[in-house]
Amino acid sequence: MARVQTISDGDFSGKKVLVRVDFNAPVDDSGAVSDDTRLRAALPTINALLDQGAQVILMSHRGRPSGTGFEESYSLAPIAARLGELLDRDIVLAEDIVGPSAQAAIAAMGDGDVVLLENLRFDAREKKNDPEFAQALAALAEVYVNDAFGTAHRAHASTAGVAAYLPAYAGYLMEREVDTLSSMLDTPKRPFVAILGGSKVSDKIQVIDALIEKADAILIGGGMCFTFIASQGESVGTSLMEADWVEQSAAMMQKAAQRGVEFLLPVDVVVADRFAEDAEIQTVSVDQIPADMMGLDIGPETAELYGRVIGGAGSVFWNGPMGVFEMAPFEAGTKAVAYAVAANKDADTIIGGGDSVAAVNKYDLADQMAFVSTGGGASMELVEGKALPGVEALRSE
Ligand code: ADP
Ligand code: MG
Repeated sequence: MARVQTISDGDFSGKKVLVRVDFNAPVDDSGAVSDDTRLRAALPTINALLDQGAQVILMSHRGRPSGTGFEESYSLAPIAARLGELLDRDIVLAEDIVGPSAQAAIAAMGDGDVVLLENLRFDAREKKNDPEFAQALAALAEVYVNDAFGTAHRAHASTAGVAAYLPAYAGYLMEREVDTLSSMLDTPKRPFVAILGGSKVSDKIQVIDALIEKADAILIGGGMCFTFIASQGESVGTSLMEADWVEQSAAMMQKAAQRGVEFLLPVDVVVADRFAEDAEIQTVSVDQIPADMMGLDIGPETAELYGRVIGGAGSVFWNGPMGVFEMAPFEAGTKAVAYAVAANKDADTIIGGGDSVAAVNKYDLADQMAFVSTGGGASMELVEGKALPGVEALRSE
């Protein structure tokens, strides 16, 4: 298959470059961006283009507007303000996407200028990957760059359709995300340890299944561990448990055993009488979960066991918190795993998934991790072995 060109392969000086970024950042009540990680992640690409004297036209979605035109609460105005600070230059925010305001702003651009189009999802044609909308986007520029790894698993007009009408390149973030994840999956340093948690088995079944083929050990925590525990015949009290997935969970553990993959479940758990910060809590062995209590974190013995396995890993992929880390009484397992991953400096480590990354940030460990992925859904789909439409669209014949 044709290779993807990256921006190192192109010459962008004096050109109008349409760049798809993932600026889907949270905005607080005062209308300010409350976490600018995604904006910062796009800076290497934006700066490289500006340094070459390109005219940079940025486009992104934010949130879930209705797709019937401008909605103040989903405007990219807060993004434009924060980006202006980060780049230390004026950002012109168009009032529309492909309409008269965007066209006028783009016509007035000089080299090194930055225009941000309004929220792509104000137009319902974006998510439908409508060819006319994709062509209207393409007509705004001479070259297209996709740096929005976070939406690369979606075939939308701005992430896929537009690439058919312009010379297309991957930005630095896109390149780094895809390369880092692919090389861990294709040629991991061994032993390769995957840590999987989060809420449900049903959300992660394909990820677990794919990792059984790649990893040497899989450590299970989070709400999903109770479906696996139930599949081994233990009672799980009032824990989150998906009865429809018990059989499949047992089959998955069998498959792991057949392949010689170590598949570890918690040996102890923190249980509570209610899903609340001030609940009555106890730590119990996994075969002693009281009928009227729910497991909300892995226990200390499990955290130690998992920590030892992580300490001996050559590579680590972590998706999904080990417990309800948002509540202090149930955060110890996630925190211990985060510290264990950060402490293994010899390993290649990837943190993927929205809440796992939030946990790493909560403990201020992001800069101690080898790689923190900016794409939740997109990184999961790569792990599942799926092709990403946003990457495939960049392959030229
Ligand atoms: P990620 O975004 O990293 O992929 P998920 O979205 O799958 O992770 O799951 C994260 C959520 O799982 C968190 O909000 C956390 O509170 C919840 N969770 C973790 N452990 C449990 C548990 N034992 N019971 C219920 N919910 C849990
Ligand atoms: Mg999540």
